[in-house]
Amino acid sequence: MKNKFDVIVVGAGPAGYVAAIKCAQLGMDVACIDKWMDADNKLILGGTCLNVGCIPSKALLESSEKYDQAIHQFNDHGVNVNGVELDLDIMQSRKARIVNELTNGVSALFKANGVNVIGGHARLLDNSHIEVTDIEDVVNVYQANNIILATGSSPVEIEAAPQYENLIVNSTGALSFSEVPDRLGIIGAGVIGLELGSVWRRLGSNVVLLEAQDCFLSIADEQVAKEALRQYLRQGLDIRLGTRVVSSSMADGKVTVDYTDRHGTCSEKFDKLIVAVGRLPNTKDLFSDESRLLIDEWGFIHVDEQCRTNLPNVYAIGDVVRGPMLAHKGSEEGVMVAELIAGKYGQVNYNNIPSVIYTSPEVAWTGKNEQTLKTEGIDYRVGAFPFGANGRARAHGDTVGFVKILADTHTDKILGVHMIGPNCSELIAQAVIAIEFGASSEDLALTVFAHPTLSEVVHEAALDVSDIAIHTAKKRR
Ligand code: FAD
Ligand code: AMP
Repeated sequence: MKNKFDVIVVGAGPAGYVAAIKCAQLGMDVACIDKWMDADNKLILGGTCLNVGCIPSKALLESSEKYDQAIHQFNDHGVNVNGVELDLDIMQSRKARIVNELTNGVSALFKANGVNVIGGHARLLDNSHIEVTDIEDVVNVYQANNIILATGSSPVEIEAAPQYENLIVNSTGALSFSEVPDRLGIIGAGVIGLELGSVWRRLGSNVVLLEAQDCFLSIADEQVAKEALRQYLRQGLDIRLGTRVVSSSMADGKVTVDYTDRHGTCSEKFDKLIVAVGRLPNTKDLFSDESRLLIDEWGFIHVDEQCRTNLPNVYAIGDVVRGPMLAHKGSEEGVMVAELIAGKYGQVNYNNIPSVIYTSPEVAWTGKNEQTLKTEGIDYRVGAFPFGANGRARAHGDTVGFVKILADTHTDKILGVHMIGPNCSELIAQAVIAIEFGASSEDLALTVFAHPTLSEVVHEAALDVSDIAIHTAKKRR
């Protein structure tokens, strides 16, 4: 393998692999380094997202939802299925097969685009040299005109509940249980805790989520978060807010968790415990002191709006830099940086990055929420419409939730869209496109939506901004 490239990308997750492909498509000679190995020491591409993140979690969410529907919802459609049985082995192997197909897909894309792959742990020596230590401890140094760091993030560990075999696990362990735990504790009721909690609740676990904050889902619009909490509690997720886990212990194959809440100190016994308290950037052993790469107090690589680090020709993208830890955010940063290196124009609109919680109902939003608009003193109008008044949602038997559109009082420009309900992970794209094109609520209101579709809820919410929704009995304001 040669040792000099136009661009070296460190990390083959959704940020790094997209950056590498885009650089190659723009005519650059590219190498991508990663250290992710399978049990047979074979290099696996795709990073957290494909191996232990977005994809396996969505595979299990889909399978568990089907199981739950077969037990609780099919009868309502007149489809009687008796004796529904769970085969967790098949569910898990299906998940593994999907992961395998997609990670192999990244390898195939690298091959097709001429991206060179290097296996091993990378360390930045200076702004043009990277040292790579492979699995046999052989060290090689590579040179590049430009370097893109995309090393991602790892689950936070807490002293109160250190990982222990398969009893106290992080999100990775929680995606691979071989049995459904009777009683499952989850520390942290954030996005990952809620998605994993939903999977195992649907498969039969009694799930308790212990969350330190008093406020539920503080990153979401308050009204949406309130409805989400109501729905999750109704489904049987036992979400306890204002509950800080302080210690844990193991006995007889079970975990006891001690926590403090407004009543004082309490404890709970679980068959398994998932720690889902957030993620931290992978910057340990990533650079030499001499490189002088600037890192912030949390370990994120310091970058400007266009992902330039403090070192010339060194960029950083994805979870390892500021901003939401989301695959699509990292991928778009990868494209932007590749275009900047190629001397083209590149940008990411950080004000319009969609967030989705893939529970049932789904929760999704983009742009600003009501709390932010109030804090920033921006005058806005609200339009909202419930899925319960939509024909398609009724035909589906999926009528929970609503779409809410926030538009500037003076210009009518859409500032944020927040939704909870069926298919919101897909519906949110309409809002993202509208905001990206600088649409007003009137633009959406004047658009024709097919009938009967869930999208009509977006339409009616846009109409409601001007108080002219059709399928409403609401009194005009
Ligand atoms: P990563 O995907 O973490 O990839 C980084 C890569 O760098 C890894 O392959 C690693 O091996 C490699 N690496 C690190 N250090 C070195 C080094 N020194 N040398 C060589 N290689 C190195 N996001 C969404 O948008 N949607 C979702 O539905 C979603 N669901 C999630 C579910 C779970 C359970 C989890 C854990 C995360 C989820 N995420 C989701 C978050 C998403 O996975 C991350 O935002 C995304 O993977 C970040 O991409 P990245 O390329 O920055 O880093
Ligand atoms: P997220 O950052 O979205 O993954 O959410 C992680 C959640 O874990 C946050 O809401 C934290 O408040 C919560 N958390 C962190 N430490 C603890 C703890 N010791 N006990 C309970 N919850 C915690």
